[in-house]
Amino acid sequence: MDSQSTAMTDGFHLVVDALKLNGIDTIYCVAGIPVTDLLRLAQAEGIRVYGFRHEQNAGNAAAIAGFLTQKPGICMTVSAPGFLNGLVALANATTNCFPMILVSGSSDRAIVDLEQGDYEEMDQMAAAKPFAKASFRVNRVEDIGIGFARAIHAAASGRPGGVYLDLPAAVLGSTLELSAAKKSLIKVVDPAPASIPSPQSIARALDLLAKAERPLILLGKGAAYAQADKDIRAFVEKTAIPFLPMSMAKGLLPDDHAQSAAAARSYVLKNADVVMLVGARLNWLLSHGKPPTWAESTRFVQVDVAANEIDSNRPIEAPVVADIKSAMAAFLAALKPGQIKPSAAWLGSVAEQKQKNVEKMAARLNADPTPMNFSSALRAVRSALSNRPDVYVVNEGANTLDFGRNILDMKEPRHRLDSGTWGVMGIGMGYAVGAATVSGKPVVAVEGDSAFGFCGMEIETICRYKLPVVTVIFNNNGIYRGDKPGTPPSPTGLLANARYDRMIEAFGGKGYHVEKTADLQKAITDALAAGKPALINAVIDPTAGTESGHIQSLNPKSALAKQPS
Ligand code: ADP
Ligand code: MG
Repeated sequence: MDSQSTAMTDGFHLVVDALKLNGIDTIYCVAGIPVTDLLRLAQAEGIRVYGFRHEQNAGNAAAIAGFLTQKPGICMTVSAPGFLNGLVALANATTNCFPMILVSGSSDRAIVDLEQGDYEEMDQMAAAKPFAKASFRVNRVEDIGIGFARAIHAAASGRPGGVYLDLPAAVLGSTLELSAAKKSLIKVVDPAPASIPSPQSIARALDLLAKAERPLILLGKGAAYAQADKDIRAFVEKTAIPFLPMSMAKGLLPDDHAQSAAAARSYVLKNADVVMLVGARLNWLLSHGKPPTWAESTRFVQVDVAANEIDSNRPIEAPVVADIKSAMAAFLAALKPGQIKPSAAWLGSVAEQKQKNVEKMAARLNADPTPMNFSSALRAVRSALSNRPDVYVVNEGANTLDFGRNILDMKEPRHRLDSGTWGVMGIGMGYAVGAATVSGKPVVAVEGDSAFGFCGMEIETICRYKLPVVTVIFNNNGIYRGDKPGTPPSPTGLLANARYDRMIEAFGGKGYHVEKTADLQKAITDALAAGKPALINAVIDPTAGTESGHIQSLNPKSALAKQPS
């Protein structure tokens, strides 16, 4: 047989075949050299391809798709600058333990390695390494199948994370005999194998919880990721232990659940004697588990798939190293009736604290000042969403995030998506597209005006794909707050009275400009009912924000200069 009659394929087809073989049906991307034809082919072959305006937002969409589905989300970019733009999202995915694969095209290896000056020359794999859970390059067309298999395993197994996969242009263009190509592909078996807890670790943890008078269960986004919703709820309810959700674990049990201690957060952190951490790290978001937020004497159970997370900040007396689904099933199987019983005094005092704080908060929430402040505007958002538990809520900003976390109640698991472990700004539009495309459900993105600026161009993407995303901008004219009228722009100030609503009108979406809570609530309700792209410019008092929101203490202070107020 001569080569003319031998059936051939090439790198482009093999990449698409490798994705399809592994059930990956969506790519978030920005097209360009050398992946343009690859994306065209993927779309022609039935993969959903969402083209973005900036790779960081495409990467954020892929990352949140990974969080929601437990399958690595795919972000595809061009070489050097496109790759670097995507790298922020890859690093953020790794930090948040979201499975994602950044696939970037790259330039000629021979030229890159001798630094002879190629178009978009860069050693991308080396650049990605410190920011990724794993980093691979495919150098031969027959290795494309293995490259994707390795990337999928690395992203989804154990503690999930971001993986980089480098695809040199020459590999995409290389040909291979069809029969060899078929054999080179790998359908990954068991990409996220169960990690079963040892019976001793389960018994040790239950013993410690049984000794507790004032126990607390702290649920993190790892618990949300695990999709063990029923078992988590059953364990919480059977033990009657108060629970506290981290922000992205809200809705795992509904926020209005009688055992929720969210409204008594400071009180329970300070006073619990045994805390069971489920998929939550004792990082800065939990004051590293240290006094004065926590008591010196607190004892810990920690359920986590990553063994090296244990003892990271406080000694953990009862580590349970396992995936949360397996761990919660084991806990339920081993739990004896009446074995764990929080003291009545503890439950009583938690309830009392909750009551007090809810009353305090009610006064703030019921105020209706003009212009709106963060609390009153968020109450309007909450009212608009009260009978829409199906809506995904994306939330970022400084004050917009801090207040939003407390005021926006969630009823369904994995429906609140926010700035996460880094407290990063700019995830909003990427997460909104990711959530809408994965779920087919509406999204309301509650965005600070500054946070929106990092990703705002993606409203064109939202309009182009006609996604049911309602973006609400809390517009207080700046980072933290607006500048005083008549003063030159400060480092934190943004244009006063910007009309963000008009941006979306340029793309055929629906814009709303609102200054009152009743109008804000109605605009959200109407926009959700319409099911079309909308942007609501909500005017917030420019003096209402606090510097750095709730984390002002993280700003270093100069010993010399007087800090501006
Ligand atoms: P939060 O910010 O909500 O507190 P973190 O991101 O700090 O949550 O913690 C999530 C933890 O969950 C990480 O330590 C991660 O290793 C762990 N984790 C993620 N997925 C699983 C899983 N399926 N089973 C067990 N642990 C998991
Ligand atoms: Mg602002």
